[in-house]
Amino acid sequence: MSLTIGVDIGGTKVGGGLVDEDGNVLATSRRPTPADDTSGVIQAVKEVVDELRAGREVEAVGIGAAGWISSDRSTVMLAPNLSWKDEPLRDKVAAAIDLPVVVENDANVAIWGEHKYGAAKRHRSSVLYTIGTGVGGGIVVKDNLLRGTNGVAAEIGHIRSVMPGGRECGCGRTGCLEQYASGRALTRAAQEGAAEHPEKAAVLLKLAGGDPESITGRQVTEAARQGDEVALGAFDFIGFYLGNSAADMVNLIDPGVILIAGGVVDAGDLLLDPIRKHYKEALASRDRIPVAEVRAAELGSKAGVIGASDLARHREIVP
Ligand SMILES: [Zn+2]
Repeated sequence: MSLTIGVDIGGTKVGGGLVDEDGNVLATSRRPTPADDTSGVIQAVKEVVDELRAGREVEAVGIGAAGWISSDRSTVMLAPNLSWKDEPLRDKVAAAIDLPVVVENDANVAIWGEHKYGAAKRHRSSVLYTIGTGVGGGIVVKDNLLRGTNGVAAEIGHIRSVMPGGRECGCGRTGCLEQYASGRALTRAAQEGAAEHPEKAAVLLKLAGGDPESITGRQVTEAARQGDEVALGAFDFIGFYLGNSAADMVNLIDPGVILIAGGVVDAGDLLLDPIRKHYKEALASRDRIPVAEVRAAELGSKAGVIGASDLARHREIVP
């Protein structure tokens, strides 16, 4: 049996999984992500890998990391959340663990996992949005990850056609989708709505102890479940931008399916219904031309580990 390891380097934890060739996660391991310390992150990856490979034959390691990854899958060119710049991650980790290593963007490994083993496996082309603190994106076209000339394609969260001149983004520009469609944007919409219309946010304000500014994402979901008008409005707000962006993807890619992943997806139809409503409205003029279904991803937090392990397994052939 061929075993590979997938590792997800996130802002708070380094999580790894030992994965077989059918995409089954056989064991997991995790360490906290050391802040602002590259050698500490490499050490954490090594510890995770060593724990998972103890007593077993492991072929290669795939790593998913937030940031812009070079087209040869070796270097993290820029990772704002980890303060990395031109970091030769592949070679440093390979030297530490003495195994072949591939590095890929975190949303790309997630859609690759869904493409091979999850909600997109019946489709040759698909688009994935990961809705967390920010908005990540991944695109598969005809069974290939869309990586672009420099390895940095599919940054859907930083497409700014939604609102040129709008809110400032961490990427240095204004009006990016991420500022209107992330978990943070959801919370912000609820906070502003509750401050402006407290009479429509009774449940939300009760959960937050009466203070609009202390409203959390989890409270928005809970209040929306109880029918709170402002909380439902916040989901409609991000659903508007995601639905319209998904419609743009139909015009650009014509995928077989559009997947929504990330922490905010725990809200289920509270999130998916508004996205579908605005998506349908945006595509109404297409009349009877078939369009992709919008649905939740299936692999949850394991998608990245499974996708990265598969890229490692097929490191010679996967483009
Ligand atoms: Zn941006």
